[in-house]
Amino acid sequence: MKIIDRAAELVFPQHLYCGCCGNIIDETRQYGLCDHCLSHFGWNTDGLDVIDGMAAGACLDYGIYERTLIFGLKYKGRKYLARDIGAIMADKVQALGLDKSCDVIVPVPLYRAKERKRGFNQAALIGKHLARLTGMECVSDMLCRTRETAPMRSLGPAERRWNIEGSIAFNEKYAGRVSGRRVLLIDDFYTTGSTALECRRALVSGGVAEVTFLAFAARRSRDTGDAANAMGR
Ligand SMILES: [Zn+2]
Repeated sequence: MKIIDRAAELVFPQHLYCGCCGNIIDETRQYGLCDHCLSHFGWNTDGLDVIDGMAAGACLDYGIYERTLIFGLKYKGRKYLARDIGAIMADKVQALGLDKSCDVIVPVPLYRAKERKRGFNQAALIGKHLARLTGMECVSDMLCRTRETAPMRSLGPAERRWNIEGSIAFNEKYAGRVSGRRVLLIDDFYTTGSTALECRRALVSGGVAEVTFLAFAARRSRDTGDAANAMGR
């Protein structure tokens, strides 16, 4: 075991409970999840899709189990879940060869006031674990939000674009340092990809050559987005 892994184990001790449902588990369980939850996750084994010219994909289809894990991290402050989410994403990254085709991980930014209130940016936390597990570099402050945006879930596709347009900026600190580099943009969740596309616009304006987007979970476009649909899986 590498020293850095040992350090991570001390900070994030072995699992005792399933990160999703709280069932007692032992340390041999994959991703710190019980067999029941693992078998109910909507594993997405597809390759990358293309949205508006950007390669994009997700590890899981968003449903009640995925939502429980994301909500546990974001709204219940269970920061240790970022390690499990990072491990799931690392396996997908390696399966798709993104650790070879991308140079640097950049998490989707949170608005500063929101990050202060929550205490962390969940995507940056996931990115840290993803970097550790894949040997990639993660740069959490390459992008920033320049203004607050309305929650995307309440908006239609056109409103989402309008809501997000111009709200994400490239950190000038990295000007000239990322020219020609390939970014793996990551987030916990995506629906339409409008936030990811705005991040790509900002990254490209900073000289980044290519952006690939990977989310932990995504709502499939064929889903209508109603709760019953997500709950029914
Ligand atoms: Zn479970």
